[in-house]
Amino acid sequence: MKIIDGKEIANTIKSEIATEVKSLLDQGKPAPHLAVIIAGEDGAALSYVNSIEKQCKGVGYTCSAYKFPSSVKEEEILATIDFLNNDDEVDGYIIQMPLPKQVSIDKVTAHVDPRKDMDCFHPVNMGNLLLGKDCFAPATPHGVMELIKRAGIETEGKDCVIVGRSNIVGKPLSMMLLQKDANATVTVCHSRTKNLKRVCSRADILIVAIGQPEMITADYVKEKATVIDVGIHRMPDPAQPNGYRVCGDVKFDEVSKKCEAITPVPGGVGAMTMACLLQNTMKAYKMR
Ligand code: NDP
Repeated sequence: MKIIDGKEIANTIKSEIATEVKSLLDQGKPAPHLAVIIAGEDGAALSYVNSIEKQCKGVGYTCSAYKFPSSVKEEEILATIDFLNNDDEVDGYIIQMPLPKQVSIDKVTAHVDPRKDMDCFHPVNMGNLLLGKDCFAPATPHGVMELIKRAGIETEGKDCVIVGRSNIVGKPLSMMLLQKDANATVTVCHSRTKNLKRVCSRADILIVAIGQPEMITADYVKEKATVIDVGIHRMPDPAQPNGYRVCGDVKFDEVSKKCEAITPVPGGVGAMTMACLLQNTMKAYKMR
């Protein structure tokens, strides 16, 4: 059984990016610039934004964060988006979720310039993804595709089952696996899928993004399948020094004994999301 080391693959991608940035700076060109908009005090969102700032610094990017309290008015967010759309020094930006309830996600998304849409939330980018055109891919599904590719897992002709149909993971990932460079046969499952176990257990590649801690046990998995676990959860665990342990949507201990390859949590898909956000920013820089 092979453990697909997302951390190592992400580090390789980040070091490729850092080398590219150094070469740009040596030529007297500016560094790529990623901006982040965040509103509110959600702990996980704030720590993700801190991590973006740190990782940008690590590869030599410029990063600017626009931080607002949860009482921010919708107009302030829209004005910041307008500002970033028009700022030639900014290559791309993300809008960290969740947004406060007085801010309409649809209005915000429609305001984003698709050329600077590093999250791939804008309908133009989602449409291009569906059509198989070159576009910014959402970071997590992009990370899953990079993991599969760089771990040497063949997708062509394979039965690929995705559990979860969210707009940020399951749906875009299904489109990416269906394109002619991946050529997988794709099934997407959700909470109304009948006999989920039977559907999952025919997968050569099983990708799980359901947000249900350790729900996928060995009886969902075919012998020698590849299992990609997108889920990430903090479970209370008094035996741990910090009082919790991190796990995914897959019961790693039992599934890892049955499958051919598996991503761990942490250290699997999560590590790739950031690396792919940095890749998108480099792509936007080159398109500028
Ligand atoms: P959502 O809650 O938006 O979507 C969950 C999907 O799973 C839905 O389609 C839902 O079905 C389906 N689902 C839920 N329960 C079941 C069930 N019992 N049986 C079958 N299908 C089920 O989640 P996200 O896509 O945003 O995230 C999924 C997981 O991935 C979470 O753990 C999240 O924390 C993690 N994540 C990790 C990232 C990373 O960087 N590693 C990034 C993004 C997410 P229905 O549509 O019918 O409700």
